[in-house]
Amino acid sequence: MDITRQLIKIVGEDRVSANAEERFIYSRDSGAQPPRSVDYVVMPKTTEEVREVVLLANQEKIPVTPLGGGFTLSALVVPNQGGMVLDMKQMDRIIEVDETNRYALIEPGVSQAALQAYLKKHHPHLQHSTPEAPPTVTVVGNALIQGHGHISPRYGINSDMVNGMEVVLPTGEVCKIGSGAIDSSWFTRGPLPDLPGLFIGWFGTTGIVTKLAIKLFPKPAYREVLAFYTDEVNLISEGIFEVTQLDLIEDFFLISQEKPDWMDHVFFILIISGHFEEEIAFKRKVFKRLFKEFKGGDKFTFVEDLHPALEKRFLDVPPLAALAADFRKGGGFEYTGAILPIDKVPQAWKKGIEIAHKYGMVCSYVHQVLLGHSVMFGFNYSFNRADEEDIEKTRAALAESNQFTLDVGGMIWKGEVEAQHMMLKQMDPHTVQLIQRVKRLLDPNGIMNPGNWELD
Ligand SMILES: Cc1cc2nc3c(=O)[nH]c(=O)nc-3n(C[C@H](O)[C@H](O)[C@H](O)COP(=O)(O)OP(=O)(O)OC[C@H]3O[C@@H](n4cnc5c(N)ncnc54)[C@H](O)[C@@H]3O)c2cc1C
Repeated sequence: MDITRQLIKIVGEDRVSANAEERFIYSRDSGAQPPRSVDYVVMPKTTEEVREVVLLANQEKIPVTPLGGGFTLSALVVPNQGGMVLDMKQMDRIIEVDETNRYALIEPGVSQAALQAYLKKHHPHLQHSTPEAPPTVTVVGNALIQGHGHISPRYGINSDMVNGMEVVLPTGEVCKIGSGAIDSSWFTRGPLPDLPGLFIGWFGTTGIVTKLAIKLFPKPAYREVLAFYTDEVNLISEGIFEVTQLDLIEDFFLISQEKPDWMDHVFFILIISGHFEEEIAFKRKVFKRLFKEFKGGDKFTFVEDLHPALEKRFLDVPPLAALAADFRKGGGFEYTGAILPIDKVPQAWKKGIEIAHKYGMVCSYVHQVLLGHSVMFGFNYSFNRADEEDIEKTRAALAESNQFTLDVGGMIWKGEVEAQHMMLKQMDPHTVQLIQRVKRLLDPNGIMNPGNWELD
């Protein structure tokens, strides 16, 4: 029986396609990477269907690329070696929210917006950490790429919030990980060997997550934005240190844009929150004092009259929603997320402007401070999708930003295949061997999203 007919037998006719139209759509994402070919698109609805599809793929040695929202921009869900895209969007149940133990158990197709809306309606005092990405992206896809959300500066990156998961291994076994492996409650990830690490950061190369338990957090009654700016780039690291040392923020951005002129400064955007008005008033007072007295004064200016529209954009969850994304005409956008040590941010700030100018772009920054240990530094490039030369320039700017990131000792986050090669080449060879050994052990036929985390 041919593959399409076998897939239809597993998931039904409506949820399999080998038609040119669907294959075209899944052969690209909205970033600057070139399209690649896809043979089949499959939309499973249950773990059992995922298992049967994987068993078939393993038997026939067909590559499988799992897809959530497909919005990493670095073509992580565009197959490198053809085969099938396993689009998880129809597995979209919020299975359980445990209020007292503060977690949600969800399927991989649950979008950020769906979880947010569900919590707002049924558990208004709880929230999850929401990335600044389009609302259709999935909670699972984000946690698996070690993403970060609007409360990450307070609670850590989103993969740290994973309590456990159910995974279909490339050889078809269905495995539960975390406290859910022992009992029905998914309240904790340990104390156990930390197996979620076998699936987090691997770009779908080790298994398919079919359920995920994610931590929820108290939702404060009050939130407020405080904006301060400076023109002294060299003060950024010290500024971050001082702010995070107080341990009082919910979210913390650094933003800047060369146009319009009023945005051409280094802005520290602090979101403070609290359960009582007095708490907010106290935090407001403390931060104003901190910046007033910072290095003897006059280094930072408090923005007294932040425009209400801008204030709303900062307080939205997700915040900003990628102001930089459509900065130029043509609808294309990609950024390389560099996870940088805080002391390297001033250097990166200058370099990013240099790279943007070299390729004829206007520099636009949105960086998020993660807990006070590192910064997600976004080298943002928007481009015209209809202009091949512009796309080439964007790819060159991304490559240069990635090289710079490694040169200063940073890490490339959610990198496209070329960026992964750069990381692997610079990595301790024993670590590369370990990665390869783990991959072979879990996926002996190399069917899962091949090409990622592999050297040529
Ligand atoms: C404008 C814009 C702003 C953004 N801002 C942020 C931000 O603030 N914070 C942030 O973290 N990210 C941000 N992103 C990046 C990205 O969109 C998000 O991280 C997003 O949540 C990724 O989820 P996704 O569903 O799109 O994942 P996908 O792209 O679908 O998948 C990501 C990876 O996980 C794998 N995968 C997906 N589902 C499964 C599964 N069930 N089992 C195994 N592997 C799987 C895929 O194969 C892929 O390798 C932004 C993106 C854009 C376009």
